[in-house]
Amino acid sequence: MTEPRLHHVGVVTLFPEMFAALTDWGVVGRAFKQGMCDLSLVNPRDYATDIHGSIDDRPYGGGPGMVMQPALLDCAVDHARQRAGADALVIAMTPQGAVFDSQMAKDLVEHPALIFVAGRYEGMDERFVERSVDLELSIGDFVVSGGEMPAMLAIDAIVRWLPGVLGHADSAVQDSFSEGLLDYPHYTRPEAYCGRQVPEVLLSGDHGKIAGWRRAQALWRTIARRPDLMTAEALSQEDRALLRLWGLD
Ligand code: SAH
Repeated sequence: MTEPRLHHVGVVTLFPEMFAALTDWGVVGRAFKQGMCDLSLVNPRDYATDIHGSIDDRPYGGGPGMVMQPALLDCAVDHARQRAGADALVIAMTPQGAVFDSQMAKDLVEHPALIFVAGRYEGMDERFVERSVDLELSIGDFVVSGGEMPAMLAIDAIVRWLPGVLGHADSAVQDSFSEGLLDYPHYTRPEAYCGRQVPEVLLSGDHGKIAGWRRAQALWRTIARRPDLMTAEALSQEDRALLRLWGLD
């Protein structure tokens, strides 16, 4: 694996305050506070030239809603680029983009700098997208009212891959999707809870056996819940044997 090297995230947003959800909490918040990655927020409204500070306008051709003006978005991206560096990749959040996943998060953390553009209203003028956007990303086949939360989700998923962000070096690798499988189930104290016991094997202290059980669980869950990720037919001989051993075939 090449060394991840993301060091700057820029965001173009009409609601920069929302990004406190990303910078003030949890492991990703700590990564930003400790300067493992810089975050700069640029508001296109700051470049508005009329007295109302408008950034949107009515759509050509009529119809409902308003459209974000291309020149203001370009001004904001240029400004973000001054802080992020000329080689920053510009990513527009849109339900029409490629659906974001774990592999994209791992790929994007290899870029030195990323600039996310969060849309509002009906979206962005298409000429801005054509001219200035390198990648369009969606967080799924549904529509939310702004690109801020989609951008935050993507940034969180990407920054987790920076070395040192998660407490334990292996955490990200063990998480769901990282190896094409869902995660195995987790248990903590107490040993018995409302009549349900922690699986015996986890108390055995036999690390090889525990690793085997966990892999069997991850395989079983993935096949049962996400046949798009893994099917029983695709299992190796070894994994088949593992499922048989744990009565999951
Ligand atoms: N008219 C647009 C939706 C606009 S929603 C369309 O149908 O394609 C307003 C903004 O919210 C979008 O510009 C985008 O930035 C953001 N957004 C909404 N749903 C999203 C999704 N699934 N993924 C990423 N961004 C989304």
